[in-house]
Amino acid sequence: MKNQYIIPIFVPHLGCPNDCTFCNQHKISGEEKNTTKEDVKKIIEYYLENFKDKNSKVEVAFFGGSFTGIDPELQEELLSTVYEYIKKKKVNSIRISTRPDYINKEVLKKLKKYKVKTIELGVQSTNDYILERCKRGHKFSDVKKASKMIRWYGFKLGHQMMVGLPESTELDELNTAKDLAKLKPKMIRIYPVLVIKGTELEKEYNQGRYEPLTVEQAVERCKELCYFFGKKKIDIIRIGLQNTETISDPTKEKSEVVAGPYHDTFRSLVESSIYYDTILKKIKKINAKVKEVEIRVNPRNTSNVVGYKRENISKLKELYDVDVVLKVDEKCPIEKIDVKVTKKYQDFLDDE
Ligand code: SF4
Repeated sequence: MKNQYIIPIFVPHLGCPNDCTFCNQHKISGEEKNTTKEDVKKIIEYYLENFKDKNSKVEVAFFGGSFTGIDPELQEELLSTVYEYIKKKKVNSIRISTRPDYINKEVLKKLKKYKVKTIELGVQSTNDYILERCKRGHKFSDVKKASKMIRWYGFKLGHQMMVGLPESTELDELNTAKDLAKLKPKMIRIYPVLVIKGTELEKEYNQGRYEPLTVEQAVERCKELCYFFGKKKIDIIRIGLQNTETISDPTKEKSEVVAGPYHDTFRSLVESSIYYDTILKKIKKINAKVKEVEIRVNPRNTSNVVGYKRENISKLKELYDVDVVLKVDEKCPIEKIDVKVTKKYQDFLDDE
């Protein structure tokens, strides 16, 4: 299968009359001004010039605001600009993200015309109380309707959900995942809630009415969702907001993050935690006390297995007195690890 490059184009708060309590789209996308046709051309040209593999597929992705909610003339302008590159076979497809209540037959027909392939819906939660609590302005019924229509028209469907919304529990989030899986998305993005400057959530946070998740809590919740979507064979294409100058460590001067589970390698934390569980499961299965394990791992995956600041290795030593010997092996499939118990406690005593 050919590689696919993505050309990201941010369309900030354009056309979005909503004010979800957690959102300040300008800050999240790092864009303060509206996107124009000229911007689109410049961005595409820049990326096309810099892609190394000229034979790869290329997708232009409009991220950020609610694409199908922006002024229809501007939508056409942006789409037709990309479509010119599609006609010249320099770009293969388009991806957009939007709100579920901004989808209808006319909208979908227009997107088809311009070769949009993937539509991602910002769902955030399927619990109507939580949706109302964060002023989303739509209900789960809108998500169901839009998702079915998108699939019926032959688009690839994606969903975006959040963890740690006000009053949302781990169970609510698992229920959201279950509800979404029934709508058969091809992909999911999971965003832990961060408190961003200038949002209503910031006020709630300052008044003590909202307490964000810690990094550890957010990792645990995301991990459960990964297990669930993994079983359903639904691709998780992102965990955590994209790092930008403004979405950065709250201690940095330009950061617009006030509080919440920010981490610059958030997805790796979740993946490391999953590897830790896998290793531990293997150790616990052995009917004897394990002293040493050998883990065969692809070089591209070593840091995830070892964990952030070697946390997995240290935890195994501190909590279970297990030593880890890493065998880095190019032939080991990426994302797979092979765990072998190489020393049990009795062998260790015999060696002494
Ligand atoms: S609908 Fe999307 S862009 Fe609009 S306020 Fe809510 S999160 Fe932000």
